[in-house]
Amino acid sequence: MENNFYPFVNLPLPYSCDALEPFIDEQTMQLHHGRHLQTYIENLNETLKDHPSLQRLSLDHLLQNCCRIPQALQTPVCNNAGGVFNHRFFFECLANPAQERPDGPLAAAIDRTFGSFDNCMSNLRTAALSVFGSGYAWLVDNYGKLKIITTANQDTPLAQGSRPILTIDVWEHSYYLKHYTDRVCYFENWCKVINWKKASENYLQSQPAPLETGCCNIHPNFKGNAQR
Ligand code: MN
Repeated sequence: MENNFYPFVNLPLPYSCDALEPFIDEQTMQLHHGRHLQTYIENLNETLKDHPSLQRLSLDHLLQNCCRIPQALQTPVCNNAGGVFNHRFFFECLANPAQERPDGPLAAAIDRTFGSFDNCMSNLRTAALSVFGSGYAWLVDNYGKLKIITTANQDTPLAQGSRPILTIDVWEHSYYLKHYTDRVCYFENWCKVINWKKASENYLQSQPAPLETGCCNIHPNFKGNAQR
């Protein structure tokens, strides 16, 4: 089930609230999905309710083009659409039981970019711990290159032209009930419930379609006879 257009609804989680135990606790998931995400959804609908032209834009489109919408609406739209996008994305990237690490093209891209899976996760950990206050750490595809980035508050990688592959929400509401202020312990537990299958799908979707092979497959830089 998809819900990328106004009115936004809080889609059920793809698993039960206790499915991530003992790594992420049931009560945290109930509040995170049922209250925090719910509030962003209600506020986004409220922000858009008198703006039919914005209601026709998808969630991704709102976020990618936030600077083009009327200025008075930019902050509430970016914050609330970001809160909806980021939370849906974060929740989809969780699973229990989970694969320990990715395989296939994503695993190969991680090795190419970071040298090893362990080095990638070490960089992601450093990024997650470096977020001051509330935000997210991400593995993204930025124009064909894997990168680890952080975003503040409910900013999204979409606004910077990056395609998200994986994220960890490091707002304290994500871990305070179980881990108190221990973000390191939360990160380590989160590593046990990463949905690498979903991350791999995200990676494949972020890649440009391969060029068709055949006699018409001329490289875009091919100049033909122009240089004779
Ligand atoms: Mn959150």
